[in-house]
Amino acid sequence: MSSLAERYSAITAALPSAVSLLAVSKGRPAAAIRQLYGLGQRRFGESRLQEASAKQAELADLSDIDWHFIGRLQANKVRPVLKAFSTIHAVDSQPLAERISRIATELELRPQLYLQLKLLPDANKGGLEPEALKAQWPSLQALPSLQWQGVMLIPPLGLSEVELQQLFCAGARWADQLGLQGRSMGMSRDWPLAVRCGSRIVRVGSSLFGAD
Ligand SMILES: *Cc1c(COP(=O)(O)O)cnc(C)c1O
Repeated sequence: MSSLAERYSAITAALPSAVSLLAVSKGRPAAAIRQLYGLGQRRFGESRLQEASAKQAELADLSDIDWHFIGRLQANKVRPVLKAFSTIHAVDSQPLAERISRIATELELRPQLYLQLKLLPDANKGGLEPEALKAQWPSLQALPSLQWQGVMLIPPLGLSEVELQQLFCAGARWADQLGLQGRSMGMSRDWPLAVRCGSRIVRVGSSLFGAD
């Protein structure tokens, strides 16, 4: 059995320098986050506000942690999420983006956002489909207080390696078309494929913290 420190150094050693690691700490105790922080990790991803808030309170002494919200963001959670996270990965509709923009302006914040794309049908996941994206991008771009970073993908379950690779490379092309550098692509089982297609931030949970 490998330790958290061993898994962390194996993943960071394998990542090209242009790709950053988002340690997905949902479901993990604050102590594990503290341990990774001690090894140099600063970016952590959480997907449930209540759970994240408890850990953020426990880790308040680690003031330079960069918290990213990666879950589906409900309208009534936008305000508290903006207060506690620098970055939101799953912006999946124009109304959500408008709401984030309005509240961020009010709070004088400039959140970093990723557009979640749905390039393949997936009944279980949100995301903007290509046609909607093309139609809405000009108005999304014009919303005040937002720092659009790039695109984010969550592949449907059951894709082959070839299909995953095609999907990630299509995501990268979409980021290019939008003129954005950011690509939030790749999780524990598929991040090497995403990196081959130019991912810039991989969201890794179970293969880092362990599968327990
Ligand atoms: C949980 C989660 C991850 C991490 O998944 P692992 O397979 O544990 O690496 C990445 N992205 C999102 C959006 C998640 O919800």
